[in-house]
Amino acid sequence: MSNSQDIIIGIDLGTTNSEVAVFQDGKVTVIPDDRGHIILPSFVGVADDGSLLVGEAAKNQYPLYPERSVRSIKRRMGTDDSIEMAGQSYTPQDISAIILKRLKAIAEKHLGQALSKAVITVPAYFNDAQRQATREAGEIAGLEVVRIINEPTAAALAYEADQHGSKNILVYDLGGGTFDVSVVRIQDQVVEVLGSHGNNHLGGDDFDQKLVDHLVRHLHTTQKVDAHSSRQAMARITRAAETAKIALSDQPFFTIEEEYLLEHDGQPVHLSLEIARADYEGMIEAYINETLEAVHTALKGAQLTVADIDEVLLVGGSTRTPLVSERLEQEFKRQPRGEVNPDLCVAMGAAIQAAMIAGQEVSAVLVDITPYTFGTSAMGEIDGLPSIHYFVPIIHKNTPIPTTKSEVFYTLHDGQKAVDVEIFQGEAIDARHNTRIGSFNIEGLSNVPAGNEIITRLSLDLNGVLNVSAVEKSTGLEASITIDNALRRYDRAELDSARSRIGALFDQEDVDYDDGGTASGSADSQQQARDLVAKAERLLDQATPEDREEMIDLIESIRDALATSDTSTVADDMDTLADILYYLES
Ligand code: AMP
Repeated sequence: MSNSQDIIIGIDLGTTNSEVAVFQDGKVTVIPDDRGHIILPSFVGVADDGSLLVGEAAKNQYPLYPERSVRSIKRRMGTDDSIEMAGQSYTPQDISAIILKRLKAIAEKHLGQALSKAVITVPAYFNDAQRQATREAGEIAGLEVVRIINEPTAAALAYEADQHGSKNILVYDLGGGTFDVSVVRIQDQVVEVLGSHGNNHLGGDDFDQKLVDHLVRHLHTTQKVDAHSSRQAMARITRAAETAKIALSDQPFFTIEEEYLLEHDGQPVHLSLEIARADYEGMIEAYINETLEAVHTALKGAQLTVADIDEVLLVGGSTRTPLVSERLEQEFKRQPRGEVNPDLCVAMGAAIQAAMIAGQEVSAVLVDITPYTFGTSAMGEIDGLPSIHYFVPIIHKNTPIPTTKSEVFYTLHDGQKAVDVEIFQGEAIDARHNTRIGSFNIEGLSNVPAGNEIITRLSLDLNGVLNVSAVEKSTGLEASITIDNALRRYDRAELDSARSRIGALFDQEDVDYDDGGTASGSADSQQQARDLVAKAERLLDQATPEDREEMIDLIESIRDALATSDTSTVADDMDTLADILYYLES
């Protein structure tokens, strides 16, 4: 057992932001400062009066007084560079130590005790000199660095600390200014980096810049104004670009409004421009392609292929961009996981590693997520044929809740007056294979040609209440419903009705076993029972421990019945097992 003196903190010392976390009472806490902020910008500065600034205050003064401020010191760790700040010289270790000392103080205040030990994370590609410099920075800050661990290792621990057995994991880390991808293998809590690649100068800042260029071009074309002529206007445009980018992660359109941006020929210049997510995605696509090339290089380095990867983990704020997860899902044929806050995941993993070193029993980070996907149906292609039942997910399963997401849809006919919005829970491409949990109409739409934009918005809260609204974009006309209990499991009758609707479309293996409520002892039903058992055995690994136990009991009872050639006695068991498999596959 550890005692309180043994507390080891976990620190993510990042290029743009840093965090400190601790594992206590079975869970990880990212530690807030006095003002409740859990993210410390990795900026150091000297104020007017000569006092030292760390974090937000140093970040704020950076654009005004760059000669008195330092940013991105991580890029210079391990070099002999001399860093000038307010007329004094510092080593990169000194500057990093100032950040570490602040994190140490934040943790000490929160925990109410002195702390002297830390685990600090570094990128997988850091060489010996860079790691040594990080260790020295810790020592200067008064911290014994009990271990330096790789950032992807920390991310893997945040997700998989309580996994036993072996897993290959791809950690895709896209932050503000850097991109790293690593392939790691975790085996009984020990993580090994098998391959790693990246670009030290690619990230969300580049996405912002694409939008900034777009806005500057727009001002030039529409108002013949050169925004570059005003530093203040450029600063506002840059901030607005980041705000738009973040909003476009959750909604299909965002309007940038900046009044009195600057003066031109004595007239005020306003900026008002709507950006569609689809257009923004076109702007950043080349960057995403570049990251995917790096993914393949990392896989090659690890001597693995896409098929060998068991999990894809998203780290870094920019991975909230939907295009990132979409492209990774296409590539790996599995949904990447981003449920542990991608900004905090590395610090959390560092805290888990720290607790392991201190001899504590650890567990992976737990978050409230939706176990189901919610969406609606629209015109699309199913098996290469056009269908109006194409399922469009809006909130994907494993998304942390509460959450709000919206998508745009288009009317199909000229003069279309109404749209029927149906909401489904499930994963199937054909919406009719999913469970319909609600529907409503939006009526009185404008008399316009096909292609009228309707925005469907889903908000899911922690109690499973799903609010759905549909808005005609051009007029703001709105209709909505509330679905209570969207997170509950469906009961028997609903399942039966869902199954009978789709029964005809299921292939032979998935045929339902109800057969009027009882299975017979015929040769057919024995074959069904054998198929069911075989399928259950195949899926055992994917089940939760609770389901697995139940499945094993059911398999045994069905096997016993098969031995007597009479499966009619286990009809209920077969039903129950079929139900569990149904959930496992959906
Ligand atoms: P990090 O360096 O990991 O803290 O990531 C910071 C980057 O993530 C910045 O470029 C942010 O603008 C970006 N970011 C944060 N939230 C989002 C979001 N919801 N969608 C897209 N980018 C985001």
